[in-house]
Amino acid sequence: MDASGNLILKGGTIVDPASGRAETGDLAVVGGLVAAVGDASGGDTSFGAALSGARTVDCSGAYVVPGLVDAHSHVFRYVSKVGAPVDEAHLARGVVAVCDAGTAGASTFAAFRELVVEPSRTRVLSMLNVSVLGLIDFRFGELLNPRTLVAEDAVKTAKENADVVRGFKIRMSTDVVGEDPDGALALLDAAIAVGEEAGLPLMVHIGETPISLDRIVERLRPGDIVAHCYTGKEENVLDGRGAVRHSVLEARSRGVLFESAHGKSNFSYAVAGPAIEQGFLPDVVCSDTSYRNWNGPVFDLVTSMSKLVALGMTFDEVLSRTTVAPAQLLGLAGDGYGRLEVGGPAHVTVLRQLEAPEELPDAAGGSLAVRRFETELTLVAGEPVPPVPWRGIVSSLT
Ligand SMILES: [Zn+2]
Repeated sequence: MDASGNLILKGGTIVDPASGRAETGDLAVVGGLVAAVGDASGGDTSFGAALSGARTVDCSGAYVVPGLVDAHSHVFRYVSKVGAPVDEAHLARGVVAVCDAGTAGASTFAAFRELVVEPSRTRVLSMLNVSVLGLIDFRFGELLNPRTLVAEDAVKTAKENADVVRGFKIRMSTDVVGEDPDGALALLDAAIAVGEEAGLPLMVHIGETPISLDRIVERLRPGDIVAHCYTGKEENVLDGRGAVRHSVLEARSRGVLFESAHGKSNFSYAVAGPAIEQGFLPDVVCSDTSYRNWNGPVFDLVTSMSKLVALGMTFDEVLSRTTVAPAQLLGLAGDGYGRLEVGGPAHVTVLRQLEAPEELPDAAGGSLAVRRFETELTLVAGEPVPPVPWRGIVSSLT
């Protein structure tokens, strides 16, 4: 085998939540696969073949973790105004797999597949919008004409593209479903029925909804996903006294999932802080990166992770929710995503936490001192992807 592609990531803190591994050591990559994990200089014979002719990357002081997975993003470039270029916005910032959350609908899915899924190095999945239009333009809600929810088309597209479509998406905000509560509930029920028929989960955007969050979550099934669990908008997860709503805790106990997609306007330190303090952690940590927010306040998934660590979650808690948990949610675990396993694909991210805290905005007017994690290197199937600089505050780049 040609040894020119062999790599040793040396001396990093290797953290793999899927296996519980957390230790300083070396990771060898041969032929696109993880060949060995441990101590390359300590007589560990599993490193033998990898060491000859391998390029060594010094990772001391950095974290060597599974390639990150972002379960909520918007990457339908060219067709949607919100689509960010997926490899630049994600892969070059440490994320090897993303799920586009409802930018594509049944009528635009063929273009999504050809323009985004197939040519990208990032693995791209979809939560298909229940509106055939998808999210083409934020100014014109995709369900204001409720007849655009065509159950038959959504189910058919999902079944014909089962390698990409892993669920459905509905945005329940008034600018999408209108202000009539009965109409909004009818659309939610129709979307749940689509999920039921296809045997897939439904992701539901909350916040500025015409019906209360209590009424939304009580309808959801185990495995359905509430998007934006730390939104600061009116229908957020906290009740009037600042405690996590009873309806939310009840839904979680039934198996409804909650993800923390940040987005341009759906992440509030004032909600996330108390919720985390009360033990209400997201099941999955997402960025909701889009063309509208990748220059701030979101920037990328790693910045969203950094904010949650600053709010009190541990690095391990955040990492498991950006690796093994989303890989499982998206049906990617069987393909070796979300974990570091000898013999598995070498999807690896190297992160370093910066020393100096920086004031970073949330999406609700708040500010917080955050020690940011920075992506130093991404490997996709063993191939190094050079990182692009953080798109944040220019003065912080040195
Ligand atoms: Zn979104």
